[in-house]
Amino acid sequence: MKRRIAILGSTGSIGTQALEVVKQHPDKLDIEVLTAHSNAPLLIRQALEFMPNAVVIAKESMYQRVYEALDPYDIKVYRGSESIEQIVEMDSIDIVLVALVGWSGLKPTLRAIEAGKTIALANKETLVVAGELVTKLAREKGVNIYPVDSEHSAIFQCLAGEFHNPIEKVILTASGGPFRGKSHEELLKVTKAQALKHPNWNMGCKVTIDSASLMNKGLEVIEAKWLFNLAIPQIEVVVHPQSIIHSMVQFADGSIKAQLGMPDMRLPIQYALTYPTRLPSQFPKFSFDQCQQFTFEKPDKENFKCLNLAYEAIRLGGNMPCIMNAADEVAVHAFLREEITFLQIPELIEQCMGKSSFVSNPSLSDYEASDNESRAIATELIGRFSK
Ligand code: NDP
Ligand code: MG
Repeated sequence: MKRRIAILGSTGSIGTQALEVVKQHPDKLDIEVLTAHSNAPLLIRQALEFMPNAVVIAKESMYQRVYEALDPYDIKVYRGSESIEQIVEMDSIDIVLVALVGWSGLKPTLRAIEAGKTIALANKETLVVAGELVTKLAREKGVNIYPVDSEHSAIFQCLAGEFHNPIEKVILTASGGPFRGKSHEELLKVTKAQALKHPNWNMGCKVTIDSASLMNKGLEVIEAKWLFNLAIPQIEVVVHPQSIIHSMVQFADGSIKAQLGMPDMRLPIQYALTYPTRLPSQFPKFSFDQCQQFTFEKPDKENFKCLNLAYEAIRLGGNMPCIMNAADEVAVHAFLREEITFLQIPELIEQCMGKSSFVSNPSLSDYEASDNESRAIATELIGRFSK
């Protein structure tokens, strides 16, 4: 039986790499649904190649173009964000790969879990915003969430055959990003172009800027907490600039297991889509000929304040990670528009966390309200910063 997949965010970095994986295994994987925000030309090309049952284009103004291009074929075309939430309920879908970016992943993920679909989760922000709600619902519905994020896939792979052995701690590896080792004075002057040049990974803009600020690692600490049911002191971060060890697990006896591979998202994507089977892969494989040394260092929490902000947000709990996430999304976009500087990203997030209303036991509507409030506060702060 082929696994029938819905890719939410098929035109993005993860989405396009997922399609490369599917292309390698046409006898095992089949595309049922593709969705995009506004990239109509790519969505049309993908649809013509993979012939899904349906596509969704979120941006209404792009609908006509997609509709006209796909009209001669047996492919349904829908529009709007609501349709992304609804389409995941389709009977013919087995797995939903959530490769949307930011807050936009939350509601479609919840709907897919409600509908009993297996989740392959790339969109870490979903667990950052509402990890408790999402994992509780998944437990109630008996739904598995397979991680796509490389660190969490590494932990998941290390845990194979170990599910009854308690975890002492997990060690998330971080590349350190393009600004590793830079002083405060140097960070004052870094540019958007420099921040977008990640040394090891080629990813979407949001996660690339988050990697440069170490917020990405902060988001991943929270993601790990919910995926693997860990206490925060059990989650450590170590900088490993070569990005070959993707993360590690230490068990009660002191033994540490690690997962290694090329810095190539197609491996964790394939593992999530085909779990528990390991299918052969044509993608480049790591060999020790390529790497003379593995090095490790502590993250620089003084100069990269976002990591501590994330630890603080999850320590406070409630809606604080949601507030932090919204502030980060606004800050990253403002940085990409060159309205704020790199070091103003953590400053803005910290101020936003201090000014937004705290809710200790939030519902979905509380999360929506917090997301809106935090965005409004962050937007106002940007106006003040740029004066
Ligand atoms: P991209 O920005 O490359 O792609 C995002 C995708 O989501 C695109 O298909 C985009 O459509 C769509 N999209 C964006 N906003 C909306 C919206 N509001 N409504 C509907 N669709 C939307 O992101 P990445 O692929 O880099 O990242 C996806 C997720 O995976 C993120 O949460 C990221 O943190 C995580 N991740 C990514 C990694 C990577 O290597 N890229 C590694 C680990 C995790 P369109 O193209 O039309 O704009
Ligand atoms: Mg990662």
